[in-house]
Amino acid sequence: MGIEEVKYRSIVKELAAAKVTLVAVSKTHPAEAIRQLYELGQRDFGENYVQELVAKQDTLPGDIHWHFIGHLQSNKVKYIAPFVHMIQSVDSEKLLKEIDKQAQKNKRTINVLLQVHIAQEETKFGLDENELAQIMEQPNAFPHVRICGLMGMASFTENAEQVRKEFHYLKTAFDKYKNKKDWDTLSMGMSSDYRMAVAEGSTLVRIGSLLFGERTYNK
Ligand SMILES: *Cc1c(COP(=O)(O)O)cnc(C)c1O
Repeated sequence: MGIEEVKYRSIVKELAAAKVTLVAVSKTHPAEAIRQLYELGQRDFGENYVQELVAKQDTLPGDIHWHFIGHLQSNKVKYIAPFVHMIQSVDSEKLLKEIDKQAQKNKRTINVLLQVHIAQEETKFGLDENELAQIMEQPNAFPHVRICGLMGMASFTENAEQVRKEFHYLKTAFDKYKNKKDWDTLSMGMSSDYRMAVAEGSTLVRIGSLLFGERTYNK
């Protein structure tokens, strides 16, 4: 199975013009597919599962920036803390504390995004407004993490207006903290909605199936 090279090049061009970072979401796809995109110049990749990420990181070039974008259990932070570039899916203060602790152990600073719940589905993870405010009110509590901004996932719906509203809500939350140090990343937009996300102010999109094809989970 090959990667979508033509599509990749056109998306890269489009996003470069808008100064938006592309994270290629490679979950469930083999290391060879990642290597193919790597050879075209892609350096930022996103993964959702700790074991899968650790296995791939071990066999792929060391200058890849790995973004963790899935739900992360506190007891698994230690496996990715030595090398992860950014953890985008911080959905509790407890998790943030653990990342801070593991970063210190590894003598590094880990970039994180706070994941905000913007979708209608209850099943999606993320902080609510109060939980977000609570973390932001403690600027010195996590010295080994760099809080760079917010991440969100819109509802899974055909209703474009609903998705637009959710992105707008996230952008408003992002702007509220725009004077904070290191605050420069708003991660929103996937294969189906990245154009709308960019129009609403996204600075980083997470695109999987448009680049790698559809995922099959039953391998
Ligand atoms: C899987 C995933 C993506 C990519 O989804 P596509 O629809 O394949 O582009 C983006 N963000 C998160 C958090 C994901 O889990």
